[in-house]
Amino acid sequence: MATKQDYQALIARILEHDHAYHVLDEPTISDQAYDDLYQELKSIEEAHPDWIDPNSPTRRVGGAILGGFTPVRHQAPLLSLDNSYQAADLLAFEHRIEQAGLRPSFVLEYKIDGLSVALRYEQGELVQAATRGDGEVGEDVTANVRTIRSIPLRLRRPESLTVRAEVYLPLSTFHQLNDALEQSGGKLLANARNAAAGSLRQQDAAITASRRLSAFVFDVILSDRPFHDHIEKLHYLSELGFRVSPARVYESVSAIIEALPEIEAERIGLDFEIDGLVIKVNEEAIRQELGVRAKSPRWAMAYKFAAQKEQTILEGVEWTVGRTGAITPTAILKPVRVAGSVIARASLHNPDYIVAKDLRIGDHVIIEKAGEVIPQIDRVVTELRPADAKVITVPPTCPSCFEQTYQIPGEAVLRCVNGSCPAQLWKRLTHFVSRDGMKIEGLGEKIILSLMDQGYLRSIADIYDLKDHAKELTEMKGYGETSVNKLLQEIENSKQTPLDKFLYALGIDQLGRASARQLAEHFRTLSAIQQASVDEIQAIYGFGQVVANAIVDFFSSPSNQELIDRLQALGIPKDLASHQSASSLAGKTFVITGSFDVARRQLEEQLTSLGAKVSSAVSKKTDYVLVGDNPGSKRDKAQSLGITIIDMAQYLRLVEEA
Ligand SMILES: [Zn+2]
Repeated sequence: MATKQDYQALIARILEHDHAYHVLDEPTISDQAYDDLYQELKSIEEAHPDWIDPNSPTRRVGGAILGGFTPVRHQAPLLSLDNSYQAADLLAFEHRIEQAGLRPSFVLEYKIDGLSVALRYEQGELVQAATRGDGEVGEDVTANVRTIRSIPLRLRRPESLTVRAEVYLPLSTFHQLNDALEQSGGKLLANARNAAAGSLRQQDAAITASRRLSAFVFDVILSDRPFHDHIEKLHYLSELGFRVSPARVYESVSAIIEALPEIEAERIGLDFEIDGLVIKVNEEAIRQELGVRAKSPRWAMAYKFAAQKEQTILEGVEWTVGRTGAITPTAILKPVRVAGSVIARASLHNPDYIVAKDLRIGDHVIIEKAGEVIPQIDRVVTELRPADAKVITVPPTCPSCFEQTYQIPGEAVLRCVNGSCPAQLWKRLTHFVSRDGMKIEGLGEKIILSLMDQGYLRSIADIYDLKDHAKELTEMKGYGETSVNKLLQEIENSKQTPLDKFLYALGIDQLGRASARQLAEHFRTLSAIQQASVDEIQAIYGFGQVVANAIVDFFSSPSNQELIDRLQALGIPKDLASHQSASSLAGKTFVITGSFDVARRQLEEQLTSLGAKVSSAVSKKTDYVLVGDNPGSKRDKAQSLGITIIDMAQYLRLVEEA
């Protein structure tokens, strides 16, 4: 009979073999012997389910199906890097550092085209893994990350720390998966990065396990331990059992630039996709001195490889109607692999673009793609133009409603101006109910389409009349009473949507999520926004004339006005409450010192709009001192008074939570 100690000892033994195999790449036992140990562990767990350790190697194959991913606020922001595309940018980066009187050495690492995650260990046990998300808040993917065999479930020493890793799909695995998909007639994975992202965000961790992802750890985010430099940090990580990112040290950036062609050539031999290199200051003390901007450190820079180009054939053009009536052409290409992705389509933006590029159907074209950037048609190879190449004609009628199309003089966009054009309504409805809008789950694209076909949805506001057709809905194909009730409940709940999400849901041209939120925070109520002039809207930071015009145009259209009236009659949306109750910063006193990337006036406005006060002198009544570059004596005073000192990143977090 195995004891609990035997069980734990067996886990330790198997984890040791995992480390040898997946991290060191030096297996210490045969596969058969490993399987025997693994089976033994499984049988102990079957006999004693109450002993099961969450970090047991058997957990690597996935377990219960998740019902979504829980958001995780990172303990410290996961910064992103500024990009550079040429040697001159790198020299400028070095120059800025030298101007500050600093002489660091530099670490060079591959910029792996994967997915960044934060891994939290307590007493040596993996307790949480979260995606980067927006750098502040990610998603909990612990169960999925446990299946990645190069990520240790237990460290070789019982230390507590949070590290940052890049999860990727090895290229060899990517090709194997695609071969298998091709044979089974499945849809091919476009590129390794998307495949890795898709694999990590599986509700069923068993699927993640089957994708055989891998990972490199490249940084410590939180630890009590001080480090002299980055290389020391990597050694430490390696000692703990992590598979660390390959790194090399250079005395200067010019030495790196000299080595660039050689390093770029290494790319071909790697089993992972890289889209560039990362150059970091090695010394920790110098990093501290250089500091960070709002979202990126001043001590590191990404160097992206030049775009890759491939030649293919333009086989056709597809025209589709968008939410705002814009009819956009898309190039249908003979599929070609560019920079690791299979490209079969590329946006042609508008009719003028087609004329400017002199495109004909049947043309040989050069496709350009750089990293994450959307592929573009670079140019036509006119020398290869076939005799039967066809001129691309602008459709005289809308592909959805067959009404005449218009191109407003001075505007490049081709439009369908039919207010009840089904394609536009469909896109608007889909956008309205989307996650970042009214968040009505259960109203997917296809269901919206069939509800439109049946005549239940002729306007956005009709969504709220669906309850009058509950009986008919229940009789629809693929629908039951339960799902209809659930949908109607979702629709009812969406009436509580706050102003900012509602504004985004309306699908006003040019108005993204962030600006919808700014607009809502500035005006507080829908009626104030409806009455606002172009000038008043432009007074908001970051709002130009184009977006201000689009907002005013939207609210002055009679059909939109009718829609808003119908929705308002239902109590939609919920206006923002007054400052005092809305913001946790109301009544707090801030002092701002030092210089920032944004104008100080904007910071003051933002704080005032949240109900906080901005004072010029530090006193005992001060709640926060926001410190930028080269802070003055106010910082010292705050320190001596024991007042909370925050940097820009912490400030942004406070404001976001306010
Ligand atoms: Zn139309």
